Amino acid sequence: MMELIVFIFGLAVGSFLNVLIDRLPRGEDVITGRSVCDHCKKVLRWYELIPLLSFFLQRGRCRRCHEKLFWQYPVVELVTAVGFVYLQSQALEFPQSLALVGWLLFFCSLLVIFVADFKYQIIPDSMVIIGIVGVLLQGQALWLSALGAGGFFFLLWLVTRGKGMGLGDVKFAFLMGLLLGFPNIIVASYLAFLTGAVVGVILILTGKTQLRAHIAFGPFLVLGTIIALGWGKQLIQWWMNIL
Ligand SMILES: [Zn+2]
Repeated sequence: MMELIVFIFGLAVGSFLNVLIDRLPRGEDVITGRSVCDHCKKVLRWYELIPLLSFFLQRGRCRRCHEKLFWQYPVVELVTAVGFVYLQSQALEFPQSLALVGWLLFFCSLLVIFVADFKYQIIPDSMVIIGIVGVLLQGQALWLSALGAGGFFFLLWLVTRGKGMGLGDVKFAFLMGLLLGFPNIIVASYLAFLTGAVVGVILILTGKTQLRAHIAFGPFLVLGTIIALGWGKQLIQWWMNIL
């Protein structure tokens, strides 16, 4: 029963995260703005905004213009709900009750950053701040590795003159370091550069993108962070054995 309540709560939060994803990068008001169809700009009614259900009842299409709705909406809602259920199931292992709130905030900031950067090539500052607040509530902020990671990415940003990555990536690297600490921050950054390079090469080879086109780096940093969180220790062990 508890899982079901957390799942539905997660769906509702996920629906709000979709609002953040589309409005923060465009500088639109998060609270008072109305949700509209991405294609025909029709203002959506409450029954068109029910998480998951509306999307499936409308078969993934707008009720007025019948254009396809973005997959982002149901996927973000579902991922949020599943993430909330998982984090809640881990709550007993957290050192303090606020730690669960911290993990939920951190999870939401990561999800918004992933999709917003993928869609608009922008990492909203407010989401990095929410992530930092989340790590502080977890009670395990690691400032040295945060400064190290932020400083290293800032140097990269200077050297590449902002062509390889944006300042948003620098700020996000600070957040990664704050949570992951050393040496996990190295694992996360390495995985981000590796997967980013592989995907970049595949996109160029298949003609999906030009060599100079900008591929958002944020989603790779988020993936690296999640993998390092879940399997960082095992990966380090594995690499040590190979070397
Ligand atoms: Zn429409």
